[in-house]
Amino acid sequence: MAVRKQYYGTDVYIRGLIEFTNYCRNNCYYCGIRRGNSQVDRYRLSSKDILDCCAEGYRLGFRTFVLQGGEDLFFTDEKICQLIKSIKKGFPDCAVTLSIGEKSRDSYEKYFAAGADRYLLRHETANYEHYRQLHPPDLSLDNRKRCLKALKGIGYQVGAGFMVGSPGQTKETIYEDLQFLRELNPHMVGIGPFIPQGDTPFGKEQAGTVDMTVTLLAIIRLLLPRVLLPATTALGTIDTMGREKGLMSGANVVMPNLSPKRVRAKYALYDKKICTGEEAAECIECLKNRVGNIGYRIVCSRGDYIDR
Ligand code: SAH
Repeated sequence: MAVRKQYYGTDVYIRGLIEFTNYCRNNCYYCGIRRGNSQVDRYRLSSKDILDCCAEGYRLGFRTFVLQGGEDLFFTDEKICQLIKSIKKGFPDCAVTLSIGEKSRDSYEKYFAAGADRYLLRHETANYEHYRQLHPPDLSLDNRKRCLKALKGIGYQVGAGFMVGSPGQTKETIYEDLQFLRELNPHMVGIGPFIPQGDTPFGKEQAGTVDMTVTLLAIIRLLLPRVLLPATTALGTIDTMGREKGLMSGANVVMPNLSPKRVRAKYALYDKKICTGEEAAECIECLKNRVGNIGYRIVCSRGDYIDR
């Protein structure tokens, strides 16, 4: 906490999360929107929907928009670039973050040229065997690493990270995750508990714990003092005070949902996700109170990485 305060004081940055498609070509064993899950009611937001989310978010004080989705080939590079450009045109003082999975270096370069500022791509696990346990054979840790290196090389603020308590995770794999993070030295690290989703192969597995998650948040804050570290929705899902506990352990970011209420429940990466019934405005009010109650304060700025 002292280290976090040294760099970021009691400021908590907010990112408006827009879950713009739940179509996905991948089949990750843990994820609720995996290709093989036929129970998912699939949706895509239109450009107008997305820009409306940004407008509402802007009104509420958000200066970062995170476009997250499954790997949906309907959204061609051209469409993604068009989206980035319209958001940047409408909201020039805002940062655009992408979280749309593994692409070619060429695609990442195009998005960056179109104005994207940041990219979130959790490495999921830095251990090869564990990676195999979590993903089907067509996905590889080497490709994930290649993507992260390309993103950094291009000049994005980059986020890596992993789930806590995913099936097959051990002290050793976590140690490798921390080593990997130290080497990559990303601007952001997203970690949250694994939570089973009933219609996936891991539907009957154990969820990760709050204790382990907050311990790892604290360790990562010490390992990478300036890192932007969210107290994730998944942490808030396994414990009603989860996000507060995360903030008190070194996290300094929260990512409330800006997606239209009608699609929220459909973006079910895991079961019992919180805030699927609220409007964005209600969420931000609730969070301001929660953050205030523990002595922190939500700030309405882009919340860039401190490079000093
Ligand atoms: N398709 C994008 C976005 C993935 S969703 C990509 O590949 O990066 C964002 C993150 O949610 C994933 O990286 C994963 O770590 C997390 N996630 C997926 N399923 C989850 C589950 N069952 N419990 C907790 N977190 C999960």
